[in-house]
Amino acid sequence: MGGLAIVSFVGHQTRIALKPAPLFFDLDHTLWDFESNSRNALRAGFEEVGLNRLGIESPERWIEAYEAANEWCWSEFRHGRMDKETLRAERFRLAMERVGVTPSPSVAEKLGQHYIATSPHQTALIEGTHEVLEALLDRGHDMWLLTNGFDEVQYIKVENSGLQPYFLGVFTSDSLGVKKPHSEAFQRSAQRAGVAMDAGVVMIGDSWESDVEGAQNVGWRGVHFNPSGEVRPGAWRTVRTLRELLDLPLEV
Ligand SMILES: [Mg+2]
Repeated sequence: MGGLAIVSFVGHQTRIALKPAPLFFDLDHTLWDFESNSRNALRAGFEEVGLNRLGIESPERWIEAYEAANEWCWSEFRHGRMDKETLRAERFRLAMERVGVTPSPSVAEKLGQHYIATSPHQTALIEGTHEVLEALLDRGHDMWLLTNGFDEVQYIKVENSGLQPYFLGVFTSDSLGVKKPHSEAFQRSAQRAGVAMDAGVVMIGDSWESDVEGAQNVGWRGVHFNPSGEVRPGAWRTVRTLRELLDLPLEV
């Protein structure tokens, strides 16, 4: 019978004290379900203005037309060919054109105002939001929101959708005076949060440019929340679902 040596090492274990990293989250499309909320607001606008009476057969047809028109208007905006004021009603005027209804400036204006007033009050969140934020809070993470947008709009979203209790603060580009991916947006929010830039901060967001690149350019770690796109190399980590955040080494 051959000898079978079982060697057991009762080792000296070095415990490295790891601290939960400070976390900054993007809001739109990362936690707040912008797409669902936008569609809910459009459905409400469809009813409110009575678009079926104008001959638009269904809210779904309307949403499709709006989304195409909206995308085109934003592209015009990015190229400097349309200002934001014009965009707000113009996307609705163009959507009416798309569904074959004679566009009326006053109806477009009404729809534009209804949308702006209604959409921030919608409360759909990306799947897993509460569960994941709860777990991260339990693990001892300090968390903040860092979002491009206006104070009055973003605060309504945060409060109405029940996100406020998880976060120590909300930093908007409006109050910071600068937008992500500008390095100042990260520096100013860290300063206001009382977090050192080299504290091992992690930024989580869906925008490659604004959230991931912007954060990594100032030495933070970037987590790309990318549910369906192609995985891009260069991010510290990529997650497909929010729950995957719980498997990442979010310590310092
Ligand atoms: Mg976003």
